[in-house]
Amino acid sequence: MKGILLLLSAALLLTGCATNQSPTGRSQTLLFSSQEMAQLGESSFKQIKQQETINQDKAINAYVQCVADRVTAALPQQNLPWEVVVFKSDQVNAFALPGGHIGVYTGLLDVAVSADQLATVIGHEIAHVLANHSNEQVSRAQLTGAGMQLADIALGAGGIADKDLYMAALGLGVQVGYILPYGRSQETEADVMGVELMARAGFDPAASVELWKNMAKAGGEQGPELLSTHPSHGQRIAQLQQMQTKAQPLYQQSRASVKNICQRPK
Ligand SMILES: [Zn+2]
Repeated sequence: MKGILLLLSAALLLTGCATNQSPTGRSQTLLFSSQEMAQLGESSFKQIKQQETINQDKAINAYVQCVADRVTAALPQQNLPWEVVVFKSDQVNAFALPGGHIGVYTGLLDVAVSADQLATVIGHEIAHVLANHSNEQVSRAQLTGAGMQLADIALGAGGIADKDLYMAALGLGVQVGYILPYGRSQETEADVMGVELMARAGFDPAASVELWKNMAKAGGEQGPELLSTHPSHGQRIAQLQQMQTKAQPLYQQSRASVKNICQRPK
């Protein structure tokens, strides 16, 4: 037991333990570099693309791409090419992964019924990436239960806490933000950042309220990321209504310069 703990702390020294401040001022522990998270995001996305059916409908792809392009163009830093893939599935789901990958399920398009509502979800998912939420989740997994298994692997490898082994072990059990659900404070943070982002991209932030009303009505099979458990729909809608005071002026500024309205296919 003591050996494992020693190993774990040695591993933490190796990986470097950074206590960060999130964009809205929460303190978060991040054990991985952005390069490592991008690698993990890349391999997770590859895996998901193999598991799910990729949508081949050109009009739907163009529509989702159009909305995603406008949202990513409004990001303060343009250091990633964002890959956008539409999956054919009834699941009401979407996600974004570190390294610049966005997945949207066709089931979401029945609930997010306008470009502005779709921009709400895409903005929210991108905000999870910007705020390092998957790094936070994977770090937490390593520090708790999963950390013990990882220590066993390190022991098996002759007691050397190899960083690549850690990453491999994490990659086996963890698809970032996909299997590990985000926490309530992360969801709220992604809402705050996402609404601001969509407003800067010229999408009406009032649509965020409509989207979550639709989401509450839809019920049914919702993907892990958009689960109704956290925060409750009612609480979320109330918070989004409060955010309008700040978001609407941003939208009024940006809407005039919108060139592509992203027409939803019939
Ligand atoms: Zn979320």
